[in-house]
Amino acid sequence: TLLDGFVFPGVPTRVLFGAGTLAQVGDEVGQLGRARALVLSTPHQSDQAGKLADALGERAVGTFTEAAMHTPVSVTERALDAYRTSGADCVVALGGGSTIGLGKAIATRTGADQIAVPTTYAGSEMTDILGETDAGRKTTRRDASIRPEVVVYDVDLTLGLPSAMTVTSALNAIAHGVEALYAPDANPVTSLLAVDGIGAFRDGLPAVSKEPTDRDARSKVLYGAWLCSLALGYTTMSLHHKLAHVLGGSFGTPHAETHAILLPHTAGFNAAATDRLGAIAEMFGGSVGGGLWDFARSLGAPLRLSDLGLSEDDLDRASAIAVENSYANPRPFDQNDIRALLQAAWEGSRPD
Ligand code: NAD
Repeated sequence: TLLDGFVFPGVPTRVLFGAGTLAQVGDEVGQLGRARALVLSTPHQSDQAGKLADALGERAVGTFTEAAMHTPVSVTERALDAYRTSGADCVVALGGGSTIGLGKAIATRTGADQIAVPTTYAGSEMTDILGETDAGRKTTRRDASIRPEVVVYDVDLTLGLPSAMTVTSALNAIAHGVEALYAPDANPVTSLLAVDGIGAFRDGLPAVSKEPTDRDARSKVLYGAWLCSLALGYTTMSLHHKLAHVLGGSFGTPHAETHAILLPHTAGFNAAATDRLGAIAEMFGGSVGGGLWDFARSLGAPLRLSDLGLSEDDLDRASAIAVENSYANPRPFDQNDIRALLQAAWEGSRPD
């Protein structure tokens, strides 16, 4: 059991959670002993980044607004140029996992302190994980220098998160929690983070999807994102994340949607072999796979891999890639098992 012995490494990240906390970023720069922040964003959020840089006044040296999905090294190189020529001494990453990934890529190369200000639920901010792409290949590494020093959660930044992204990004976060529960390095603390995190999504998401600007429900969901990100930051992911990386990396499927569609299938597959998902079954009406699928459907989430442009031939290739390397997973599997799982996710059928 989890109580047979475990190591809990401590939580090194300072976290501010609330409404209007964006206004405290300047003080946080000062508290870190820094004075010149480079504000990062995607092109889509460049206005927001510009406003933040203006609000930071002398504590900002400018913005770099080219962050892109899967942290391409070519973008990081341009960002490093901007970081050095501006004389910045820290970065503020304002955005989703793509922007936070760019902050991590700069920090691990320069030692820069990072303040992450998440605006989605993807959950990169609490982890020491960095995935980067170079010439179409994705590599992932973990290192203490990658973890942001400060994370500022401001619910106001999530009120306008488009509804489709709200739902897929939340299911992405729930997937972190689910895999944390059966991770080989799970411990009692990561498990309670994961269960409470998933519970916060279960309780908050239906209200958010009815009324996207409901601040209380948005706060609950953002709190769930924090807990699931924390759990992800201390555990090793298994089959679900492996399949999401294969589909995203080799077939270019969109990150959050891919996670959302796969989750009921991977969770249902593994629930048959572990008792660690008991709390999740209870939370979602008795069945892990079916319950998560019903929940996703009730929120209008995408349910079919076929809608992401994948063909059945792609599924053959994906299942071959997915079994090239071995990794920890509660339920053993072979290529046929993966092919069958992908088929069900491709058709969008309800798992047991
Ligand atoms: P994203 O960061 O790519 O954001 C998608 C789009 O939504 C962007 O254009 C962004 O600017 C926009 N956006 C973000 N917040 C918004 C808001 N509140 N309102 C309006 N638009 C907004 O997507 P994501 O799902 O947050 O992150 C996915 C990436 O994060 C992937 O590359 C994934 O690998 C990575 N990730 C990494 C980790 C880790 O621990 N290293 C964990 C989770 C995700």
